[in-house]
Amino acid sequence: PTQEIDPMATTAPSPKPLTPGTAPAPATIAVAHGDGIGPEIMDATLRVMEAAGARLHCLPLELGEAVYLAGHSAGITAEGWDTIEKAQAILKAPITTPLGGGYKSLNVTLRKTLGLYANIRPSRAYAPFVPTLHPAMDVVVVRENEEDLYAGIEHRQTEDVYQCLKLVSRPGCERIVRHAFAYARTNGRKKVTCLTKSNIMKLTDGLFQRVFAEIGAEYPDIAQQHMIIDIGAARLACRPQDFDVIVTGNLYGDIISDIAAELTGSVGLGASANIGRDHAMFEAIHGSAPDIAGQGIANPSGLLLAGVMMLVHLGQSEAAARIHNAWLRAIEDGQHTADIYREGQSAARLGTEGFADAVIARL
Ligand code: NAD
Repeated sequence: PTQEIDPMATTAPSPKPLTPGTAPAPATIAVAHGDGIGPEIMDATLRVMEAAGARLHCLPLELGEAVYLAGHSAGITAEGWDTIEKAQAILKAPITTPLGGGYKSLNVTLRKTLGLYANIRPSRAYAPFVPTLHPAMDVVVVRENEEDLYAGIEHRQTEDVYQCLKLVSRPGCERIVRHAFAYARTNGRKKVTCLTKSNIMKLTDGLFQRVFAEIGAEYPDIAQQHMIIDIGAARLACRPQDFDVIVTGNLYGDIISDIAAELTGSVGLGASANIGRDHAMFEAIHGSAPDIAGQGIANPSGLLLAGVMMLVHLGQSEAAARIHNAWLRAIEDGQHTADIYREGQSAARLGTEGFADAVIARL
C-alpha cells in the first residue's frame, strides 16, 4: 500500500500549512542546472514540479565548470550573485569540482557567502520497494555547514608539509545545535545524537559537545546522546534504527550522510536543504556523476526530493505532498532507475526521463 506520509520536512520551524483552497503566490527561485548529470536530473525535476502545479518563477543561474572555464575563478559571475539576491530559494544541480587541485569548491563558497549554516539531510528506507539491509531506517543528519575543516583555510608550510585549519566557534556550534533541537521538536522527532571526536580534539570538538549539552538542557522533551564519531558511524552502518536526528560537524556530517543515503539503497535518493538566515539552497547530496553523465540513466530522485523540501520551505505544502506521494507510488510500483533496479523485484528499468514520466503519471 502507498505510504501516506508528510512531505519531507526541511527547516525548523517549518512554514505553516496553507489553508485549504488558498493558492500560494508564485515563488521566485534561482535554478542552476550544474555539470555532469546535473542538466538531465534538473530537467526531469522541473518537469515533475510543473506538472504537480508548483507555482514557481524560475531564474536561470549560471554556475559551475563552464563559468570557471570562462575565466570566473569563483565559478559564479556577478550576475549570478544578483540572481541569487532576487530569489527566495536556490535549486541547484551538482557541480564538478576538481579533486586535489584546481579551483576552489563553489559549493563551499556558496554555503559560506550565503550563510547557509545548516545542512539538513534526511535518509529514509523505502523497504521493501528499494532493497536495503535496514528497513526501519529513518535518520536526519543536521550537519554544520560553514566551519570545521571546510572553512577553506589551508597553507603550505614547507614543500612537504601542509596544514588545514579546523575552525570551530561557539556561535557556529550554538546555531547548528539549536537548529537540530528545534528541527527535532518541530518535526516530532524523539532523539538527537551528537557525534564528535572530543576525546582527541578536546578544544574544537570539545566545544561542540559542551554546547550540545548546554542547549540540550533547554529541550528536556527530546532524548539526547553524545557518541564519538567513529563508533557512531559504525553503529549507524549496523543499527541505523537507533538514530533519529544526528547533529555533527561539517566533515563528519558530509561523510556519514553519504553512508546513510547509500544504506537506504542508493546515494541517488539523497536530498538536502542548506538553510541560513536569509537564504536557502536545495540540492541532491550526490555529485555530478561524470561516469554516467549524458546517458540519461541517472536517478533524479535526490534532486526531486530536494525540490519537495524546497516547496515545503516556500509554503507550497500541497504541491510538495502531491509530488512526494506520486514519487513514493512510482517507487512502490517498481518503477526504478538503474541504481536501485533489481531483477525480479523491480517492474521496469527506467531512464531519467522515463522515471519522471512515471512520477507525473501518478500525480
Ligand atoms: P558522485 O556522487 O558524483 O558519484 C558517486 C557514484 O554514485 C558514481 O558511481 C555515480 O555514478 C553514482 N551516482 C551519483 N549520483 C547518482 C544518481 N543520481 N543516479 C545514479 N547514480 C548516481 O561522486 P564523485 O564521483 O566523487 O564526484 C563527482 C564530482 O561531483 C566531483 O567533481 C565532486 O567534487 C562533485 N560533487 C559535487 C557535489 C555538489 O555539487 N553538491 C557534491 C558531491 C560531489
